[in-house]
Amino acid sequence: MGLIPQDKILLIKESFDIVDLISEYVRLKKTGQNFKGLCPFHTEKTPSFVVSPVKQIYHCFGCGEGGNVFHFISKMENINFFEAVKLLAEKKGIVIETGDAAKKDEYEELFKVNEFAVKYYRQKLKESKTAQDYLSKRNLTPETLEKFSIGFVPDEWDGLLNYAKRNNISTELLEKAGLIIKRDKKDGHYDRFRNRIIFPIVSSFGRFVAFGARVLDNTLPKYINSPETPVYIKGKNLYGWNHAKINIPEDLGVVIVEGYLDCITCHQYGIINTVATLGTSLTKDQALLLKRYTDKVVIAYDLDAAGINASLRGIAVLVEAGLDVKVVVFTGSKDPDEYLNKEGKEAFLEKIKSAKSIVDFWLDIVKPENLADLKGKLKLFSQMLPVVAAVADDVKREEYRKTIAARMGLPERLIREQIESHYEKLYNITVDKKKEINKATNAKVKNAKDLRTERMEKQLLILSLSDVEAAKRVKASVFASDFDDEAVKKILELIFVHCEKEGGFDYSAMAEELEGEARKLFTELNLDKVEYSEESRLKAENDLIRAVKNNRLEKRLKEIDAEIKKGNVDKELNNEYMSIQRYLKGAKAGKQQGEK
Ligand SMILES: [Zn+2]
Repeated sequence: MGLIPQDKILLIKESFDIVDLISEYVRLKKTGQNFKGLCPFHTEKTPSFVVSPVKQIYHCFGCGEGGNVFHFISKMENINFFEAVKLLAEKKGIVIETGDAAKKDEYEELFKVNEFAVKYYRQKLKESKTAQDYLSKRNLTPETLEKFSIGFVPDEWDGLLNYAKRNNISTELLEKAGLIIKRDKKDGHYDRFRNRIIFPIVSSFGRFVAFGARVLDNTLPKYINSPETPVYIKGKNLYGWNHAKINIPEDLGVVIVEGYLDCITCHQYGIINTVATLGTSLTKDQALLLKRYTDKVVIAYDLDAAGINASLRGIAVLVEAGLDVKVVVFTGSKDPDEYLNKEGKEAFLEKIKSAKSIVDFWLDIVKPENLADLKGKLKLFSQMLPVVAAVADDVKREEYRKTIAARMGLPERLIREQIESHYEKLYNITVDKKKEINKATNAKVKNAKDLRTERMEKQLLILSLSDVEAAKRVKASVFASDFDDEAVKKILELIFVHCEKEGGFDYSAMAEELEGEARKLFTELNLDKVEYSEESRLKAENDLIRAVKNNRLEKRLKEIDAEIKKGNVDKELNNEYMSIQRYLKGAKAGKQQGEK
């Protein structure tokens, strides 16, 4: 670490509760002492991601990820440990003096320059009557403009560029943030956005990562957006998510709209569980992000041809992520923005509550004309099939099956056979894939004895970690070097150091001293559900210590044996061999006696 003083790191860490922090990203449910949720680091449908409020660490039993608050943020925001510490410090207003030694922090610089641009655009909005008129014609209140940091950029080629120069911001950084563009063939740069309303895009963590910019009239392109930058990857963010994620009603879920203005208007009317897809079609990443917080989503797109196609693509992606999807149909208005301003909040909420199921959407809106004859019906059914069959929930799938049969007048048996066989096929594909992944990870085939040893060693670690006194006893009886596995060795060394410290184990601090496989194993062992009674603990402890020792000695015997076979007749080696043999014989006899 080095760059940030250790006591500062501790202060920052202690100002966060890991459950609260992770809850900003993952929906957690309390189960016993711990909290459980769907892992944000791999795709899963049943939760194997566990967070311990007592130990202030987390572990995923699916993909193995684990650590403390810093590791979580670093992995989640795709930044390094140092940057994660800084990010969390900033969240709590803790100042870190990093001095000259601190390396340039690219992400931080990009966030900062985006923030600088937001200030500039906000100021320009205050100076422009035209832009203000445009926004008030869209019925946006000053509070809303503030909440979404909406700005304006005048019709100039170098307004931001010059303003940044006056503030000693390098063109290099502006270009990296996608705010300016290098001139073709000539020297110099020019502003990317000109004469447009600016919608800053905020990450789930509340940082400005990019911009959307809209014209004030009907010129094309209506919208232009920031390019991808190190802090902005397209298809990963959802517009409005930083506000929406805090308050998702369980019965309604999240409302997905197409445009910035749709989303902003929804929030202004108090429908704050709304997000927008940022002009691209919904991605798998976005769907998985939603799935971590809710089971339900409602799509509320325009219902022109493009909107219907976007809805269908969205449905497929969302269903695949395991979400229950419905579609709102606005009559008489083209989009949520218009509908809300015309009909008001209550009418809009009614629309959301009475949203159509994906099957009804298909039959009523997408292709009602296909219901006229059998040929059309079969064609439509084959289009719906892959999506309906991907619905993981058995009850829901059956409901859809029945609706399709009834509304299309097709034999239910036929519909069921088709959907279920397709479902099986989809399911088997996943099973095969899982098997392949398992095969790959277990490429190094372990024999039964190795596995038994591994289990014993892990049990001993679990015992040591759960009780400082036990750890001290283990420390008195075995050496870390008795173990072969590097991760086990590292953890044991760590336990031995920490069990002598005042105040017992600080698991979060211990996690910080480990990396890679060792940290994964550490969090796994800590959140494993093995419970011992007081007596069974002691017995298990003794058995395990002896087993580990014997194991080590047996290995040593084999090594010596191999040496001797090679012709090494060293006397000391021979003595060692004899004494180990004697010890092992005694140990075995002792064990048998003990059992009697
Ligand atoms: Zn995982």
